[in-house]
Parts: sequence; structure tokens; C-alpha cells
Amino acid sequence: MTALALSSLSREELRRWLEERGHPAYRADQIRRHMLRAGEGGFASMSDLPLQLRTELEESAVWSSLEVLAETAADRGLTQKLLLRTEAGHELEAVMITHPARDGSRGRRTVCVSSQAGCAIGCVFCATGRLGLRANLTAAEIVDQVLEAARRWDAESLGRPTNVVLMGMGEPLQNYRQVVLAIHLLHGWGIYPRQVVLSTSGLVPEILRLAEEGLGVRLAISLHATHDELRDRLVPINRRFPIASLLDAAREYAAASGRRVTLEYVLIKGVNDDPGAARRLGQMAASIRGHVNLIPMNAIPGSDLRAPSPAACRDFAALVGPRATIRHSRGDRATAACGQLRASLTPEPRREGRILARELALVGSPSGPPA
Ligand code: SAH
Ligand code: SF4
Repeated sequence: MTALALSSLSREELRRWLEERGHPAYRADQIRRHMLRAGEGGFASMSDLPLQLRTELEESAVWSSLEVLAETAADRGLTQKLLLRTEAGHELEAVMITHPARDGSRGRRTVCVSSQAGCAIGCVFCATGRLGLRANLTAAEIVDQVLEAARRWDAESLGRPTNVVLMGMGEPLQNYRQVVLAIHLLHGWGIYPRQVVLSTSGLVPEILRLAEEGLGVRLAISLHATHDELRDRLVPINRRFPIASLLDAAREYAAASGRRVTLEYVLIKGVNDDPGAARRLGQMAASIRGHVNLIPMNAIPGSDLRAPSPAACRDFAALVGPRATIRHSRGDRATAACGQLRASLTPEPRREGRILARELALVGSPSGPPA
């Protein structure tokens, strides 16, 4: 029998679980406080719980569904990347990003979490995409990434996580039920859906389903190209859900949630960085009343795709217009971009033909009709 992951239960469910075993419900809050605390040694060290309860917990439940395999730090410690492993042996990554307090603001602590081990979408510029899908993560495994980060920040007296972004490994909307459950569970840990950003490669039916769900999470769409011919090759799911249908879904999501949708655009030199693309991107963002996040591409092993120069990125942003900001993916020096820590620690046999830019004829390809 697999042990119960405590993080799979809401506070109410843990109260009931305890009551069913003859323990007072208020023990749930004691246990949950321990789950957020630094330096926890597991159930044995929860000395304010009766010995019998500790023994029962040890026999039937697990403290965390994830094991920490490695960690790296960058940006003077403001970014920490964790390589984690599920009980079933699947590896995944989570990134902790500290935004220091400034000018009276209280500072933020963002956890970038994975929703899957690997990913089936296969975007050509993405290290995770090369793995293929290994496993869907459970809601508990998603929540435990946030709790692991919370304990580490607590150890430094930095306070609780304030934001969660589903921008680690995997396509969250291909693991819809567990992701939505995780968002509900995180609410119980004080992270409101509006503090959660879900990033998707563009699964239109699930975006519409999420709009109907009425959760209120913020949505980011990984666009990366402004015409279907290029997007079909960069983000293969585009062959099923082309750009026009994706922008319609973005408008619908914005209307249903009352929140602006962000378009993410990984800038790749010679592929999607021409002035026409910038102008079309600006128009698309305006058409959904959204923002644009430009992300200079992090180089990945085995691919000759690269980011444009910083000056070229700034020129591109200026052409997109006021809706654009350039987001330097924090911690790239800690090999922190999507899938990269895992890739650097456990080299994969390269899938020939899957990634090499020249074979895909991406570099130097015309990037669509003139604006
Ligand atoms: N699968 C989802 C969420 C995880 S990826 C999605 O694709 O949206 C999170 C973001 O990182 C996406 O916008 C993705 O395109 C981007 N990304 C992937 N590989 C990257 C790389 N090598 N450099 C920069 N950004 C990358
Ligand atoms: Fe999957 Fe997102 Fe990577 Fe594409 S960018 S392969 S959707 S994780």
C-alpha cells in the first residue's frame, strides 16, 4: 500500500482523517504548522503530538511525497533551483525566486513548479520537451514543491511563498485535474488563485474549461511565433490549435476571469526576432488586451538556437510597444531554465532529429508575411 501524502489532503480532510482515527481534529493545524517549518525531522520530531499519533502517522503517511536530490543557487542566492524525485522515481525541478523588499514593498517569494516529469509537447527550444512525457505529477507532488520551498525560506526567516508559477517542467493543462486540485489545495496554504500563474503551450479546449471553472488563476500563453507556419514547428501543438483559435480562447479567458492574459515569447535569433514579428505580436497583445513577456532564449545542450543580443532584444521590445517587458529568466546561470538542471545532471541520450535547429530549418527561415 502506498503511504498517504499529507499534502494531498485539505485542512478539512486532514481533520476528518484524524477524527476517524480517534484523534482530536485540532491536531490537523499542529501537523500543518510542522509541514511549513524549517529543519523538520519528520513525524518523530513533532514533539507536541502524542506518541501514539506520531507512530500512526509514521506507519500510514509520508511527510513529503518528494525527495531532494540536488540544489543549485544563482543571483547571489536569490534564485535556488531544486532537483526533486517522486516516490515512483521520476525527476522534476522547482525554482525558488526571491524578490527582495524594495521602496516600502514587502518583497515576494515565487515558486516555479513543475506539473509533469518531462513533457509530451516537444517544443524545439525546450530541454524538458526532449525528455518526452515521463509522468503526470499528483496534486500532492505539485503542492510539496511549494512546501519544500516554504521550509527553505522559513529557515532563512524570509516568510511564506507569495506566488506560484506553473512554469517548470511539463504542460499543466495536460495534467488538468491534478493541477486544478493542487491550486485548490494551495489556497488552503494561503496562496490565492490570483497569486498563481498557469503557463500553457496552448491547449484550447482546456483553456476554455479553465475559464468555466472560474478559479481566477492568471493565464500565460506561450506564443513564440506570430504565424502558424513557424509556430507549427516551434510549438507542435499549434497544428491542432492554431494561433487564431488560441487568441480567441485567450479573450474568452480574460473575459471570464477579469484578468489580463500574458503572451510569452521566447526570443530566438534569426527565427522569430524580425521587426514584422514584433509588430504583429504587439497587435495580437492589443487584440486580447494582454501583456507580452519577452524571454531571451536560454541555450540548451544539443541545439544551436540562441537568444538575440541584448540590444536586439531591446529593439524588438520597443517595436512590440508598451505592452512588452523583457524577462530575463532568473537563475539561468544556475541552469535554471525549464528542464535544464536535470539535463545538466543526468545527460540524456540525444534524440537525433528532434532538436537540431538546422535539421528543422528554423534558423534563417522566413518568418512570415511582411507586416
Ligand atoms: N509547458 C508550459 C509551461 C512550462 S514552460 C508552457 O510551455 O507554457 C514555461 C516557459 O518557459 C514557457 O513559456 C516556455 O516556452 C519557456 N521556455 C522553455 N524552454 C526555454 C528556453 N530554453 N529558454 C527560455 N524559455 C524557455
Ligand atoms: Fe512542454 Fe512547455 Fe517545454 Fe513546450 S515549453 S516542451 S510545452 S514544458
